[in-house]
Amino acid sequence: MKTAIITGITGQDGAYLSKLLLEKGYKVIGTTRSYNYSNIKNLSYLAIKDKVILQECDLLDSSSIIKTIDKYKPDEIYNLAAQSSVSLSFERPIETIHFNLISVLNLVESIKIVNKNIKFYQASTSEMFGKVKNLPVAENTAMHPLSPYAISKASGHWTVVNYRESHSLFACCGILFNHESYFRSNNFFVKKVITESLHIRSGKQEILEVGNIDIKRDFGYAPKYVAAMWLIMQQEKADDFIVSSGKSIFLREIIYYVFDRLKIDRDRLVIDPSLYRPAEIEDIYGDNSKAKRILGWEYNMTFFDVLDILIEEEKQNYEINESK
Ligand code: NDP
Repeated sequence: MKTAIITGITGQDGAYLSKLLLEKGYKVIGTTRSYNYSNIKNLSYLAIKDKVILQECDLLDSSSIIKTIDKYKPDEIYNLAAQSSVSLSFERPIETIHFNLISVLNLVESIKIVNKNIKFYQASTSEMFGKVKNLPVAENTAMHPLSPYAISKASGHWTVVNYRESHSLFACCGILFNHESYFRSNNFFVKKVITESLHIRSGKQEILEVGNIDIKRDFGYAPKYVAAMWLIMQQEKADDFIVSSGKSIFLREIIYYVFDRLKIDRDRLVIDPSLYRPAEIEDIYGDNSKAKRILGWEYNMTFFDVLDILIEEEKQNYEINESK
């Protein structure tokens, strides 16, 4: 039986990755900043909260990480913990950059000290590329980060590459494009559009207020993306991979699709320029051919397929919660 530690287990990807690893027969340990405050609602929703072990661990304190590694002797560590919101990173740049970089550095340094055979996965992001000249984005595309979040993740990314090249760690980065699920927090665009549209449909809310929606993004489905994380860790050689749907879609198109599905008039959509970001990427999509070719990762969903799943799941849970 293999043992995996997942940092950020309470988040969207942490929950889906736990489920996948449990299905594959892994012992799964998830780190949490505090037993008292850990939010296990995603693990409960997937009915796996009693199947994973939660371990308090401060990722900003390498001695806490070393103790955790010593206790569980993992084969694999998946580092998903991060301040993951781009907009919040503009409000809290220092906290975001500090946590998202130092936690990575502490983890790879601890592995180097304790046991260099432990495999390490880092959750890198398409946001690192920022202002790109040519599309699609590939693994070797130059980075030009446009937010504190993107800077933090680019720093973490290069730290991992450096530990792989300088200290021979099996350290990999999955460079994931946006991926969505029912577990997304309400401050993320797709989740916000669907939940607020349901409020409009039920009469609880009048309008949907959004920022710049004439930009394009590459969106996918989270449960399928965590499968790529596992595949990345099963390779002979540590490497970095873009994980994306390969296509971008206008945010406006997403709103229109959700509105049409829920029979909401388009005059309920209001653009609020105060919600525009200080710096914005116009269009971005990734080239997933390396992941498909080398990992054998399969992904054929359009984002409309994903939206159908998300709207249905959100509707069902909305009706259950409303009837309580
Ligand atoms: P979530 O925001 O859903 O989850 C983030 C996790 O990190 C939570 O478990 C959270 O714990 C933990 N965390 C946040 N801040 C801290 C902190 N200061 N100390 C310890 N733990 C902390 O993210 P996702 O699951 O969506 O994403 C997983 C990873 O992948 C993140 O690193 C994200 O940046 C990256 N990524 C995500 C993409 C996406 O589209 N979802 C795209 C590309 C990369 P708590 O519950 O205690 O808050």
